[in-house]
Amino acid sequence: MQSSSSPQIVIVGGGPAGLAAAIAAAQSGARVVVCEQLDRPGVKLLATGGGRCNITNTLGRDEFIAAFGRQGRFIDPALDAMDNAGLRAFLATLGVPTATDPDGLHVYPASQQAVTVQSALWRRCRELGVETRTGVRVARLLMTDGKVAGVQTDGGEIAAGRVILASGGRGYPELGGCGVGYDLAGQAGHKIVTPTPALVPLTTAEHWTRPLAGLSLDCVRVRIDLPRQSAAGVVGEMIFTHHGISGPVVLDLSGDVAALLDRTKEPVPLRMDLSGGVQAAEWHRRLDRWNRDDGAKMLRTMLSRDVPHRLAEALIPEAGLPLDVRCSQASRARRDALVGLLTDAPLTVTATEGFRRAMVTRGGVTLKQVDPHTLQSRLLPGLFFAGEVLDLDGPSGGFNLQWAFSSGHLAGASAAAMAPHA
Ligand SMILES: Cc1cc2nc3c(=O)[nH]c(=O)nc-3n(C[C@H](O)[C@H](O)[C@H](O)COP(=O)(O)OP(=O)(O)OC[C@H]3O[C@@H](n4cnc5c(N)ncnc54)[C@H](O)[C@@H]3O)c2cc1C
Repeated sequence: MQSSSSPQIVIVGGGPAGLAAAIAAAQSGARVVVCEQLDRPGVKLLATGGGRCNITNTLGRDEFIAAFGRQGRFIDPALDAMDNAGLRAFLATLGVPTATDPDGLHVYPASQQAVTVQSALWRRCRELGVETRTGVRVARLLMTDGKVAGVQTDGGEIAAGRVILASGGRGYPELGGCGVGYDLAGQAGHKIVTPTPALVPLTTAEHWTRPLAGLSLDCVRVRIDLPRQSAAGVVGEMIFTHHGISGPVVLDLSGDVAALLDRTKEPVPLRMDLSGGVQAAEWHRRLDRWNRDDGAKMLRTMLSRDVPHRLAEALIPEAGLPLDVRCSQASRARRDALVGLLTDAPLTVTATEGFRRAMVTRGGVTLKQVDPHTLQSRLLPGLFFAGEVLDLDGPSGGFNLQWAFSSGHLAGASAAAMAPHA
């Protein structure tokens, strides 16, 4: 079936994982074809980090791995192949220097533009003779005698002894998110852990937050108010939306919330500390003082000195007080209710915004059936995996792109190193 002009490796998907795999494989001398269903490779990459592309971060190995949760150790060999320093050095060789944000943690291309990364990867592929077929969707894996034989695309068959599945997750369909990759893996017998949206805004039931749409708060603590969930929750920036809440702290919690919604089919209760770290006891003292010493002043005026005025104006009625209440008119019970909202406001998540707005997918090809040292299938020789198609997802902050690049690099190098007739 294969001729000397057949590619040795077909890569399904031209995202960061697929392009990194293509470069690694072609650098090792393999003939490589990348099939990308969209009209150009790396379309999702262009949207990352708000167009700036948070490529990785400066965390040490253990902390980086821990962020991926219980299965995090799986990524260790891929980080051996290309860790954060390795990725930055690799990009530098492509003419893309990187820079760390003033926070010392997040790493971006120095240009602060994702397009620099995308075009450098694509250029390197062309220099190495990688053939990129855009507008081509892979529909089926071809298998002969229990081995990979190539792929069936909507434009015909491509024979190849090795296929790298780098088809990403289901999030953001207009940026290439789809589930076909799971079907291809399933064809080879791979078990798929049910994909659910992660890094996704949450829809909430309460109406008092609706007028706050667009308001961003810097230091909010959010926790899932259920047994066996972290009582400390997570802290970070939160944004109110027209339908609920978003922002880094919410996105990072959203994978767990989505999994609970999926499992229990019940709304998920959250608690939010909106006080910016001011303890409840201190709020009680402040409100008592205003009640005693500033009784004639509007409560919303006093509260707006400590929290954004839009938040003050939403919380006062929610605590059962008229918006124009004066400090002396707020009863003890209402003041307690206000402190409760400031430091432990309940919110009820009814849904996520779904795969349409999910920056990553939780679930995917189960890791048990993939060798972490080569990223080759344990079921079908010649089939390799890279990136988000696997059942691994990290929080926001450069984790997912680092994984895509590291796994792509390892899968590409492993596929190229595989003996031609193995
Ligand atoms: C808006 C947004 C912002 C993000 N920001 C960041 C960030 O700043 N930092 C970070 O670390 N992560 C970020 N992410 C996550 C990150 O983009 C992904 O984790 C990463 O792109 C995964 O890389 P991948 O190559 O595995 O998959 P993808 O980038 O999804 O690429 C897969 C490609 O495969 C193609 N494909 C799928 N099926 C087929 C098929 N059957 N045939 C042919 N082609 C196919 C798709 O069209 C797609 O181009 C962001 C995601 C989004 C949506």
